[in-house]
Amino acid sequence: MFPTEAKVVVIGGGVLGTSAAFQLADDGNEGVVLLDRGPIASGTTPFAAGQTGYLTNNKAWLPFTAWSLEYFENFEERTGYPIDFRQTGSLRLALTEKYLPDLEARIEAGREYGEEFEMISPEEATKLAPGLDASKAKGILLVPRDGHVDPKSVAVAFAAAAKDRGVSIHTNTAVQDVVLVDGKVKAVKTDKGTIQTDWVVLAAGAWNRQFAGKIGVDLMTVPVRHQAFVTAPLPNVSHEQPIVRITEPQIYVRHEAGGLLVGGYGYRPLSFDMDDFPDDFEIPALASDKIYIDQLHRAATEFFPALKDAVIIQERRGLPTIAPDAKLVVSEIPNAEGLIVASGCMVGGISKSPGVGRVIADIVGGKKSSLPAETLRADRFGEEYADDTRLRSKCEQVYSTLYLDVI
Ligand SMILES: Cc1cc2nc3c(=O)[nH]c(=O)nc-3n(C[C@H](O)[C@H](O)[C@H](O)COP(=O)(O)OP(=O)(O)OC[C@H]3O[C@@H](n4cnc5c(N)ncnc54)[C@H](O)[C@@H]3O)c2cc1C
Repeated sequence: MFPTEAKVVVIGGGVLGTSAAFQLADDGNEGVVLLDRGPIASGTTPFAAGQTGYLTNNKAWLPFTAWSLEYFENFEERTGYPIDFRQTGSLRLALTEKYLPDLEARIEAGREYGEEFEMISPEEATKLAPGLDASKAKGILLVPRDGHVDPKSVAVAFAAAAKDRGVSIHTNTAVQDVVLVDGKVKAVKTDKGTIQTDWVVLAAGAWNRQFAGKIGVDLMTVPVRHQAFVTAPLPNVSHEQPIVRITEPQIYVRHEAGGLLVGGYGYRPLSFDMDDFPDDFEIPALASDKIYIDQLHRAATEFFPALKDAVIIQERRGLPTIAPDAKLVVSEIPNAEGLIVASGCMVGGISKSPGVGRVIADIVGGKKSSLPAETLRADRFGEEYADDTRLRSKCEQVYSTLYLDVI
C-alpha cells in the first residue's frame, strides 16, 4: 500500500538516498519512505568506478572520509549485506615538484590522524601495479587502505538493509513536488499519491538543482559530465593491483574484470541544466563524447603502455554534481524547514555515501554530528554565484582541476 504519512521522505534511490534511508532507520526512526522514479540505483551510481579515497590534504576533512572508509571496511557487520570491497590500496603519483607538497600534506594529515604513510620508488610501484610505467614520477604515495567496490552493490545493499529496518521503498514512483507551508515541509506529491511529512531528503542526483529550483530553493550544485572506459582483459593486470592516480594528467586507472578501468578530469568539462533535457531523460541516454575518451586514452597510455592496443569494451558516464568550492552540500535548507539536501558529490559520492547518510540522520535526530557537518551547509555561498552562467562556469572549472586542487 502506498503510504499517506511519513516521518521522513527520501527522494532518490542512488547511493546517497539509500545511505540516508538506511542510517535514518538504523537510528530507530520509524516512518521512513524512500522513493525513486526508476529502480534503485538508476541514476549515476551504477556507472561509477566505485573507488574509495580517504587520505585528503585537508586535515579538517579527514574525520569524514576516514569514518566513511571505516564504514566500508565493516559494511556487512553494519548493514547485514556484503559489498565485495576490494581493499587493493592506491598509489598517487606526482610527476612534477609542484605537486610534491600535496603528497606531503596528505602524509601530514594522516599522521595527525594517527596513521603513517610512506612514499615508494617507481620500481616498487611497478612491482605493485605491473603494467605501470612510473619512471616519470617525482613522488609516489602508497595508501594501503584505499580500494574499490561495485557501486551499484552499495546502493542495493543500503536499500535492502533499509527495508529490513522498516523503510517503505517505492520504486517507479516519480516525485512531482514538495509542499511547503509557511516555510516548512508539509507533504510530498508523487504520481502515486501525496505523503504528509515533516522531513524531506532531496537526493535526486543530477536533478537536485532543477527540483530545488521548482520549490524556490537556489541550490548551488551543478551536474557535470564525467566519463571513464573499461578495456578487455590485458596481460599483467591483476585484481590485486592498487588504484593508480596520477596528479598532472588527472587520471585514475584500476583493475576491472581482467582489464583496466580508466577515468579522468579536465577532459572537455561540460555542465548541464536538466531543463534542457526532455522530461523522460535518464542517465544511460547521456551521449558519449568520443574526443574526451580519446584524450583520456592517450593520456593514460603514456603510463600504461598496454593500453595502446587495448580494446575498449565499455564506456561509463554520468552526471555527478559539483559545488563551486569543491565540497559536498549536506544540509537543511534555512528557508525551507525540514528540507535536507544531499548534493555536490564531487565525483566521490560512493566513497562519501556513509558519511553523507550519517550527517542526514544526525540532522533529523537533532544531534550535533561527530562529522564536520558545519562545512557542508547549503547557505555558505552567498550571492557570488547567483548568476547561473557564472555558477556553471565555476563548477566546470572546479571539475576540470579536481586532482590539482583536490581536498
Ligand atoms: C564514470 C564515473 C566514475 C565515477 N567514479 C567514482 C568513484 O570512483 N568513486 C566515487 O565515490 N564516486 C564516483 N563517481 C561519482 C558517483 O557515481 C556519484 O557521486 C554518485 O553516484 C551520486 O549518487 P546520487 O545518489 O547523488 O545520485 P544518483 O545515483 O544519480 O541517484 C539519484 C536518483 O534520484 C532519482 N530521481 C531523480 N529525480 C527524481 C524524482 N523526481 N522522483 C524520484 N526519484 C528521482 C533518480 O532516478 C536516481 O536513481 C563516478 C561517476 C561517474 C559517472
